[in-house]
Amino acid sequence: MQLGVILNRVFRMKDNPLFDFVAEHQNELDKLYFILPLEDLSDAAEVKRNDYYKVVKGFITALQKRDIYPYVITYKKLASLVDDLDLSHVLIAKDIMSYHKETYDYPHIKTDFEKHQIKVIGQRVNHYFTPLMTLNKQQQPYKVFTRFYKANRKNVIHTPAKSYQYKQLSQSAEKGFNQSELRLDNNEDMEKSARKAWHRFLDEDISYYKQLADDVSQDFVSGLGKYLAYGLLDIHAIINDLLEGYDSDESSYESFIREVMFREFYYILMTQYPETATQSFSEKYRNMQWSYNQSHFKAWQQGQTGYPIVDAAMKKLNCTGYMHNRLRMVVSQFLTKNLFIDWTWGEDYFRKYLIDYDNASNVHGWQWSASTGTDAAPYFRMFNPIRQSERFDAQGYFIKTQLEILNEVPSQYIHNPTKHKDKLKENYNVEIGKDYPEAIVNHKHSRDYVMDKFKQFK
Ligand SMILES: Cc1cc2nc3c(=O)[nH]c(=O)nc-3n(C[C@H](O)[C@H](O)[C@H](O)COP(=O)(O)OP(=O)(O)OC[C@H]3O[C@@H](n4cnc5c(N)ncnc54)[C@H](O)[C@@H]3O)c2cc1C
Repeated sequence: MQLGVILNRVFRMKDNPLFDFVAEHQNELDKLYFILPLEDLSDAAEVKRNDYYKVVKGFITALQKRDIYPYVITYKKLASLVDDLDLSHVLIAKDIMSYHKETYDYPHIKTDFEKHQIKVIGQRVNHYFTPLMTLNKQQQPYKVFTRFYKANRKNVIHTPAKSYQYKQLSQSAEKGFNQSELRLDNNEDMEKSARKAWHRFLDEDISYYKQLADDVSQDFVSGLGKYLAYGLLDIHAIINDLLEGYDSDESSYESFIREVMFREFYYILMTQYPETATQSFSEKYRNMQWSYNQSHFKAWQQGQTGYPIVDAAMKKLNCTGYMHNRLRMVVSQFLTKNLFIDWTWGEDYFRKYLIDYDNASNVHGWQWSASTGTDAAPYFRMFNPIRQSERFDAQGYFIKTQLEILNEVPSQYIHNPTKHKDKLKENYNVEIGKDYPEAIVNHKHSRDYVMDKFKQFK
């Protein structure tokens, strides 16, 4: 066979199932090409775009060090390159959810290649479970996480590492070249950096995870989302590490495994209900009359809502491409409940900014907050953003990292500046409405509105 291996978002040399496939089928190869199609991130935030290119370049450097030279092209040119190379087969990752555009995903690409009479070989590279192996007795996907977790936890087991040699790849592969406009100079080995960060988390922070992961002023989370979104680390290797350390601190390790299984749960649901990427999982809410208020949406995007925890979280997202899980819950509840804006607007904004964007986790995270998803937050448990701020950033340390204007404001006033505006002006020289926005909505009023709206669909 004349095989093309499509490498996007499997940016790792170690534990790469695509490489393993090539090594195992070496005797069947007439020609072998590695192809790295670049995503179009022109509508993504600069911070996300730059990070993607940095990781791509690091991966290409790592390949070249092992004498492997991929063709680097844009997705648009993929079909014509495959024609030019006269490929009979392509090997593709079939379970990636982190593409910036859905047209790069497996169903789309598979259909395109098959139109050109090219055989497509799909490999699982980025998730632990095979969706159809996780179904309940009725052969349906679990729709409640705890049931999924209880039924499938026993299947989280040690798996053997892959054992191919890089030489097997470089000796068989034809040399490709860079046909894109991307300059390829970056020597940082991103996979090595990711592995180092992951092991630091295991050595230092995982024992605090269960207790402190929700405290947004501290950094006891793993950052794994980004490494998984790029495929820098293998989920099986991660699970192996977790199982190996398990006995040292069972409850911390178990709570982390549970989180990783959340990602699998959402992935499985998305493979079985792909239509929920753009519409409510819960059918009864599909006709909800959401708000499309542009000025509210803009205030939310820019961190100008007058709720410091929301504003600080959005500013952090805008400048780093990252947001803590608790803050994702707070800002998504604020958008979909306090502002009653359609969750798909928030989902799309996160897609443009989040470096660890994952379609399944993002869509289901948003639908959880909007109370339209499976196993979602019930609408009557709407978050109070002031209470969330008091609980998870009690001293206001996180807020102060992003909102310099509130630096001198003590913790008893920082969570609700509109309420304490006279004190802030008198004692701290902060004028609400001028130096920092007045709250754009009143929490109690928006709560009444939300309850009323949801009750109409009972
Ligand atoms: C509105 C909203 C949008 C989200 N969008 C994304 C997204 O685009 N991409 C993404 O990877 N996660 C998303 N999440 C889930 C979660 O917020 C992130 O996985 C997490 O914050 C990433 O940071 P971390 O790797 O440091 O997390 P850690 O707390 O260290 O967790 C470790 C890993 O467990 C998994 N995980 C943890 N919590 C969840 C969860 N609630 N759902 C699914 N997986 C989870 C992730 O793979 C994560 O990397 C979203 C959550 C919400 C509420």
